[in-house]
Amino acid sequence: MTSPLETVRKNIHTAAINSGRPAEDVTLVAVSKTKPIDAITPILDQGQRVFGENKVQEAAEKWPELCARYDSVQLHLIGPLQSNKVRAAIQLFDVIETLDRPKLARAFARISQEENKYCDYYIQVNVGREDQKAGIDPDAVDSFVALCRDELKLSVVGLMCIPPVGQDPAPYFAELKAIAARNGLDKLSMGMSGDYPCAIQCGATSVRVGTALFGKRL
Ligand SMILES: *Cc1c(COP(=O)(O)O)cnc(C)c1O
Repeated sequence: MTSPLETVRKNIHTAAINSGRPAEDVTLVAVSKTKPIDAITPILDQGQRVFGENKVQEAAEKWPELCARYDSVQLHLIGPLQSNKVRAAIQLFDVIETLDRPKLARAFARISQEENKYCDYYIQVNVGREDQKAGIDPDAVDSFVALCRDELKLSVVGLMCIPPVGQDPAPYFAELKAIAARNGLDKLSMGMSGDYPCAIQCGATSVRVGTALFGKRL
């Protein structure tokens, strides 16, 4: 029996090779939001160490226990964040993928210093320019990168996006790649269960996959 994790790994491998890159260039972020500890341990037992959660509170309830049992877990925050949760986010997460506004960036810079704990950051870009969606407007990314990286000295490693639902995501992935390139950023977090092979073809260096690993969320 092939496990869902093995299937996803194989698909990542195939997509990477097809786009002329080694499979190791693509990191799988296993999105464990809403899933209980009992559902997560089998994935940890198969060697997966990079996980994504979208809520600080939920992550705080599950991961300290799991991190005590498993070495070298790397946690990514992939959900929108309020400024009053920045301290808890810094304490829990290694990578923040949803940096999208100056107020939040300033809070991370200040509180990281206070906590003496430094995360890596992706800037989330609202590639579809959707009113209801988090992420910075594509036209404002360049100056926001400059603020985060040059003025606030945050470790900005790349860009993240969630394209509009029900549309071909490829043009949005391509746009994210172009914005990253002109800002000298190497990493692209894009692609979910429905479109991660496409995202890898378009240059993703990490994919955030939940449903294909854990099954449907209730
Ligand atoms: C839930 C979520 C995912 C995973 O989505 P699936 O379709 O279940 O793979 C990826 N990225 C973000 C930001 C999410 O909130």
